[in-house]
Amino acid sequence: MSNERTYIMIKPDGVQRGLVAEIIARFARKGFTLRAMKMMNVTKEHAEKHYADLSSKPFFGGLVSYMCSGPVVAMVWEGKDVVKTGRKIIGATNPAASEPGTIRGDFCIEVGRNVIHGSDAVESANHEIGLWFPEGVCEYEPCAKAWIYE
Ligand code: UDP
Ligand code: MG
Repeated sequence: MSNERTYIMIKPDGVQRGLVAEIIARFARKGFTLRAMKMMNVTKEHAEKHYADLSSKPFFGGLVSYMCSGPVVAMVWEGKDVVKTGRKIIGATNPAASEPGTIRGDFCIEVGRNVIHGSDAVESANHEIGLWFPEGVCEYEPCAKAWIYE
């Protein structure tokens, strides 16, 4: 299914370090379709909702203040297997274990400053897209589709 969608977010360190264009380029050049994008400051309540499943972790408080420490760039990307492939493009959670060639492998060092978020499953992607884009995404026909899919 080429209309699978995932929620991708450039975290405050990624924005501050000038990685926005680089990260967008990696998803776009792969052939995925950008369906929504906005830059925004994140409230504590919203960050806590996004990471609700991690609320019992010892790093939760630090994670929430990291996410609120500057603007993020929130995006929805679409394409065949985009959730799984997006996670591969991003790399392992801890940059120390992320392969070179992945975003985290190339651009960061510590787990608490790992520059980007990507949904981990189709269900969580749909939940996160609803949370970050309650206004909906842009519906349009990507003109290169026939050059990307058989
Ligand atoms: N995180 C952290 N310390 C840890 C594990 C995770 O600070 O020991 C942060 C890190 O920014 C990570 C986020 O919490 O990206 C969410 O954790 P998750 O396990 O969902 O990793 P992800 O899905 O982002 O790879
Ligand atoms: Mg996660």
